Amino acid sequence: MTKSVTISEVGPRDGLQSIDAVMPTEAKKAWIKAEAEAGVSEIEVGSFVPPSLLPQMADTAEIVAYAKTLPNLDVVTLIPNLKGAERAIAAGVDKMSIPFSMSETHSIKNVRKDHPAMLAEIKAIADLVAAQSEGQRPHFEVGLSTAFGCTIEGSVSEDQVAHLAEAAMEAGVAEVGLSDTTGYANPAQVTRMVRQIKGVIGSDKLNTLHLHNTRGLGLANVMAGLEEGITTFDASLGGLGGCPFAPGASGNIVTEDLVFMLEAMGIDTGINLDKLLKVREIVAASLPEEPLYGFTPDAGLPLGFERAAA
Ligand code: ZN
Repeated sequence: MTKSVTISEVGPRDGLQSIDAVMPTEAKKAWIKAEAEAGVSEIEVGSFVPPSLLPQMADTAEIVAYAKTLPNLDVVTLIPNLKGAERAIAAGVDKMSIPFSMSETHSIKNVRKDHPAMLAEIKAIADLVAAQSEGQRPHFEVGLSTAFGCTIEGSVSEDQVAHLAEAAMEAGVAEVGLSDTTGYANPAQVTRMVRQIKGVIGSDKLNTLHLHNTRGLGLANVMAGLEEGITTFDASLGGLGGCPFAPGASGNIVTEDLVFMLEAMGIDTGINLDKLLKVREIVAASLPEEPLYGFTPDAGLPLGFERAAA
């Protein structure tokens, strides 16, 4: 099993876009700065969607510019389409990720594009990335969303996910990630799908899992991913965000619990857990109405806890 893991904090994007409250720009900056100082090396800081659709993300360009000034941090944004990619490149992101819904019904309902239209959009973005000069070329990844099941279609064909992953690679993306957008995944399914997709596109082209903890299986799914060689996991501080399809459920897997599990297992995350736990105060203070999840923050660290040696 891998000796080190990258944790990609997605709370400022996935968490904040899922709640109604709009976090003030200065609070976002304080959150991102504090997490970077705790050792988080990759943060998805926002989304280049039209502000009319998601006012929570209206300040993304400003947040990217700020995050770029922080040392040792890869700055990631979500992009919905070519126009979003142009804005992300202009802002100078290190990495951008486009969600590609494996459920065609979900794709049509969400972004009004069927699978061929999405693949054409992905190819146009890959071409745009390739046309940039070397220093300005962001890493371009496709997130295979609703890969483990869809709230409209129900189960999604695993063969179809593998086929679409291959088509996305052929369109020119650097790698794909697997996303349990709906919190449907179980560990056996994670094992099966990671194996199948790596088998089709190459073992070094699927490195990231994006998991939600909707049904409490988030960390079990991480374990399944680790055993199949996954090295990057998306997580959200305090599990911020919830789920629009399951009222009362938590959002992404909780960064604090994920760091605790990995470090306790001797897998290096580069993150100082004491510092990370203090970051919650920033989020709680600016979003007093939002529930924050996580067991480790409530229970504290076990006596004698030692973090993994770097
Ligand atoms: Zn998500």
